[in-house]
Amino acid sequence: MKVAILGAGVSGLSSARFLLQNQIRDVHVFEAENRVGGMARSFEWHGFNCDLAPHRFFTENAETLKEITSLVPMRRVRRQSSIFVGGRWIQDPVNAAEVVVKFFPGRSFSIVWHYLFRRQRPEDNFEQMVLNKFGKGLHEFFFRPYSEKLFGIPADQISPVWGRKKIRVGGLRDMIMRKTRLYFREFYYPRKGGYGSICDRLYEDVRDNVRLNTRIVNVRPDPATGGYVCRFEHGGTTSEETFDVIVSSLPITQMATYLGVPLTLKFRPAKIVYLLIDRERVTENHWFYFADDHISINRVAEFRHFAGASLPAGRTVICCEITQTERFSIERTINELATAGVIRKDEVLDSRVEEMPFAYPVYHLDYEEQMQKVREMEALHPRIHHVGRNARFVHRDLDELYEDARQAVQRIIAPAQEPASAADPR
Ligand SMILES: Cc1cc2nc3c(=O)[nH]c(=O)nc-3n(C[C@H](O)[C@H](O)[C@H](O)COP(=O)(O)OP(=O)(O)OC[C@H]3O[C@@H](n4cnc5c(N)ncnc54)[C@H](O)[C@@H]3O)c2cc1C
Repeated sequence: MKVAILGAGVSGLSSARFLLQNQIRDVHVFEAENRVGGMARSFEWHGFNCDLAPHRFFTENAETLKEITSLVPMRRVRRQSSIFVGGRWIQDPVNAAEVVVKFFPGRSFSIVWHYLFRRQRPEDNFEQMVLNKFGKGLHEFFFRPYSEKLFGIPADQISPVWGRKKIRVGGLRDMIMRKTRLYFREFYYPRKGGYGSICDRLYEDVRDNVRLNTRIVNVRPDPATGGYVCRFEHGGTTSEETFDVIVSSLPITQMATYLGVPLTLKFRPAKIVYLLIDRERVTENHWFYFADDHISINRVAEFRHFAGASLPAGRTVICCEITQTERFSIERTINELATAGVIRKDEVLDSRVEEMPFAYPVYHLDYEEQMQKVREMEALHPRIHHVGRNARFVHRDLDELYEDARQAVQRIIAPAQEPASAADPR
């Protein structure tokens, strides 16, 4: 069985590794860039290992935890994160009780009043879901501005599917009790090399099977073999090769275009702005959010707190995640941080920007309808396995993608292991 893996992010690399572990040797990973890791990569800058926005490892799957921590030595870190909203710092995740106390009396009355007298309506969209659970006060204070900033569409145009994924609490009471996965207190982080060291380690085991600087530009069915022809560009030339099975971590919209299925799904890009600050640390947080919509920054991470290793003294690197790219400039980012009192403008020694063109799948109202089209496309092409955050169009973290890759490989090898289907390349 000859397998093409499209993309060498965590999904592609772990799929390749699982295939090799299962004695499937004819595995070819195509990666457009000159490096692996995709959105979970790291780079060194001014002596700090920098990730693309805050990345931390958390899983409820004991097997995944054991495997990843045995591959990459990690330290357990006690989470420290906050939210800057309405000119004040509050806990992250939002603790409704704290908000009521800190914003007493103005905001507090609105939050409690709207919570007590909220009217239940059908949860047709994200906004209505939040209104049903928390009421208008908390929605206007936190949920609406942050979600609109993240997705770039009004809250009543966001699918309730996203709300169900992200707001894994039943309402104000659960929020105060602080149950569920959202409230993890500790996370794991590589002892050295940043979050990207996980992909770097996976790469070590599959290196011979990876073709860097090789961009897939088309995929089409091959009626003669029942497989697929991949067309790719490398060093200015275009070539084609036929495969029995494809594991794709490309954005689903890209693969759907190749297969002639028009989708209206959209991704929200992000700019990640790195600032070298002439100070030992800016806050004690691993990351903190800006919830207000007049601030274009979503989140800030400070890498010093993740690493726990010896780092340059007297300086620190922070990174700001910005999805309102239409409002973006480095000056604006620095001004916003200075206005919030996080840094002084004259402390910024250097800056750098990284692009994430496919940072967030946008859960638009037509999400479920579009995903139905995706499922129909998958049914027509059972030899193409979609793994990964953008291939599955879901907000998923590394631990979940690792698990998805394991399952995809199980599906690929299952028929091959059955004697009756020995002639079937799947
Ligand atoms: C802001 C942000 C914060 C996050 N925080 C966390 C966190 O705290 N913890 C966590 O575990 N996860 C986090 N994640 C999620 C995590 O980064 C992603 O889920 C993961 O990196 C996705 O891996 P992937 O392999 O599915 O896709 P990608 O990383 O996107 O990899 C796809 C690869 O395919 C390549 N490619 C694309 N097109 C082509 C082509 N045509 N031909 C060849 N190659 C191509 C790309 O270059 C890339 O290397 C976060 C994500 C974001 C955006």
